[in-house]
Amino acid sequence: MTEQASYKSTFYINGEWIESDDKPHLAVINPATELSVGNIPLGNANDVNEAVQAATQAFVSFSQATREERLDLLKRIAEEYKKRSTDMAAAITAEMGAPKWLSESNQAASGYLHFKSAIEILEQYEFEFKQDSTLIRKEPIGVCGFITPWNWPVNQIGCKLAPALATGCTVVWKPSEEAPFSAQILMEILEEAGVPKGVVNMVHGDGPTVGSAISKHPDIHMVSFTGSTLAGIAVAKDAADSIKRVTQELGGKSANIILDDLSEERFAKAVAGGIKTLCVNSGQNCNAPSRLFIPKERMNEAEAVVKATMEKLSVGDPNDENNYMGPVVSETQWNRIQEHIKSGMDLGAELLTGGLGRPEGLTTGFYVKPTAFTGVNNGMSIAQYEIFGPVVCVIPYNTDEDAITMANANEYGLSGYVSGADSERVNRVAFALRAGMIHLNGAQMDRTAPFGGYKHSGNGRERGPQGFEEFLETKALLGMQ
Ligand code: NAD
Repeated sequence: MTEQASYKSTFYINGEWIESDDKPHLAVINPATELSVGNIPLGNANDVNEAVQAATQAFVSFSQATREERLDLLKRIAEEYKKRSTDMAAAITAEMGAPKWLSESNQAASGYLHFKSAIEILEQYEFEFKQDSTLIRKEPIGVCGFITPWNWPVNQIGCKLAPALATGCTVVWKPSEEAPFSAQILMEILEEAGVPKGVVNMVHGDGPTVGSAISKHPDIHMVSFTGSTLAGIAVAKDAADSIKRVTQELGGKSANIILDDLSEERFAKAVAGGIKTLCVNSGQNCNAPSRLFIPKERMNEAEAVVKATMEKLSVGDPNDENNYMGPVVSETQWNRIQEHIKSGMDLGAELLTGGLGRPEGLTTGFYVKPTAFTGVNNGMSIAQYEIFGPVVCVIPYNTDEDAITMANANEYGLSGYVSGADSERVNRVAFALRAGMIHLNGAQMDRTAPFGGYKHSGNGRERGPQGFEEFLETKALLGMQ
């Protein structure tokens, strides 16, 4: 039996919704019910081409819009966004399974916050300044291609779209084929807010077809990609021939280092906080603290807290307010996580809690047991690969140097977390980590702080004034009177 399809999304090109009945369609599965909640047409290189032509045409006038005009536009988008927040949260829960509380408080809210933040930055951003006798002018880079994932669907597009519009760029966007309904609502918001035709265009489709056509397109001047490292590499290769700018927000396997000088109470709080941060959104966060480094002599204490914290997390129907975690996004993702858990068990890592299969009592839906392995060797595959699920590796260490060396012995470098009593020591460890964002003593996300990674976690930064830079070219005017 198929659930009544309640969502629909289609292409939006040059200010028009394009009917695509003649195209192949992809069913979108609600991961909590395993039933279809709607479908999307799958586009091709011709659709991308049409969208690029519209964006190229629109760039001529939009790139000349004044700061005040762009501020007005962003404010109208923020206003319209507020009106659709509830719809947005419901679509996110239906398409990728985030629990209602998270969809409302964070997933949907993050989209609005990116527009608000872009308004604040645009109000004072210096697009022109003198450097000795030269005038430096920052100009919009041109037509931007955006390719985004499903895990934080509106957050990931919001942090690209808001600065792109703020800086006068035009856009061709391919949302994730697994989270297309929040994308539809966002486009409706933009239309309602009066975004000029052609300024933002959306084409649905799969990565190798539509994503690759965007990366390769000679009239797209930059491509901003968020997703897995493998797909990010494909984007960069496809983009190389057209010399476009490429920014990549990729995977992670972030270290959470708990130092040995914390009191029993603060130690327990730091460990429990790390586990909850890992498990939010069912562990599907690029910056998840998935490797927990614990001083060897405090392993027993940490294991007790990890086990108790994970076992208290309620998993189930994402529409039930009492559940901390919903399902993971898809059957493919569920199977991938199961394989990682099995490989941890086969490698001889000790299973502290969780394990294979669905949590007790859940027979339908892609639900995963919050899972902890302990006594993990940092070289094991479960400690090296991004699992993208609620699975933590607890790794013992001897000295601060030992923890730093192991934290850095990973190809990723997105985030890091350090907790300790002596702030100089915390800072020293934080400075030594090769990662783009380090959270000290449980510090929460700051939406204006630059977000991005070292090494295989990517290139470039989103958010804050640094996020604006990605969408700007620098012109030097010499001898300007
Ligand atoms: P994914 O790489 O499978 O897909 C991401 C997007 O890329 C989708 O729109 C997909 O259709 C497209 N794509 C796939 N192959 C492509 C190709 N060859 N060319 C062009 N586009 C292609 O990733 P996902 O499963 O949607 O998301 C999870 C991944 O995203 C995780 O690795 C996670 O760490 C990462 N992520 C990173 C950040 C960050 O800011 N660093 C944020 C969120 C997610």
